[in-house]
Amino acid sequence: MSLIKVKNLKKEYKTGEVVTKVLHGLSFEIEKGEFISIMGPSGSGKSTLMHILGLLDKPTSGLYLFKGKDITKLSDSELALLRNKEIGFVFQAFNLLPRTTVLENVKLPLVYSQDKKNMDQRAQEVLEQVGLGHRLHYYTNQISGGEKQRVAIARALVNRPSVILADEPTGNLDSKSGIQIMQILQNLNDMGNTIILVTHETYTAEHAKRIIKIIDGRIIDDYPVRNRRFASQEEILK
Ligand code: ADP
Repeated sequence: MSLIKVKNLKKEYKTGEVVTKVLHGLSFEIEKGEFISIMGPSGSGKSTLMHILGLLDKPTSGLYLFKGKDITKLSDSELALLRNKEIGFVFQAFNLLPRTTVLENVKLPLVYSQDKKNMDQRAQEVLEQVGLGHRLHYYTNQISGGEKQRVAIARALVNRPSVILADEPTGNLDSKSGIQIMQILQNLNDMGNTIILVTHETYTAEHAKRIIKIIDGRIIDDYPVRNRRFASQEEILK
């Protein structure tokens, strides 16, 4: 069973009388352990697709099975429960809480989960995984953009989600910090995490193992990355 299966997925937005058709019948499957980029120019429908895959929105029509479960049949509260348990989000704008420490930000998803035991220990563990073991008690306004995104990745990981959805995670970063983020995502995938990356940049997309290319709400290509880029330490030090 695929982790994610979509078939003939369509999405349209209605604003008054005006209907905007954004996704025109997408079909693909994503297996556990994949690292996949959804790539396309601005306005192609990437964010719309990501919102649907991340259970933040529902398709207008078509099939979406998450771990075999038909998500179109779920109520909003069932969807929210599933989302909190199964999906870790990383956004371009970091979306961290201000006036709050790094550790508190990462602990936050655990407060809503059933796994409340050893919250500090688990949060510290994922922060160490992204190289921030020395920043636990810093406030989020005291760390760099690259470090903020690493906190966001740790927060996405802390609940052990089935998939990490990263929407333009390097979009607000200088190139060196961006490379570090891609290296962390590659390491997490090597450790078995499933990652879906949304980007408009070929360079960034090619760090994944597979690319789905979208233009005007249609898949125009879906292929394994032959010359995969690896974010190396040398590149970071350049
Ligand atoms: P991308 O992430 O690739 O830039 P989006 O998914 O944000 O693309 O947008 C795709 C298209 O859908 C755009 O033309 C955009 O204007 C339209 N769109 C997105 N969200 C809405 C909405 N809530 N209402 C109406 N149109 C929308």
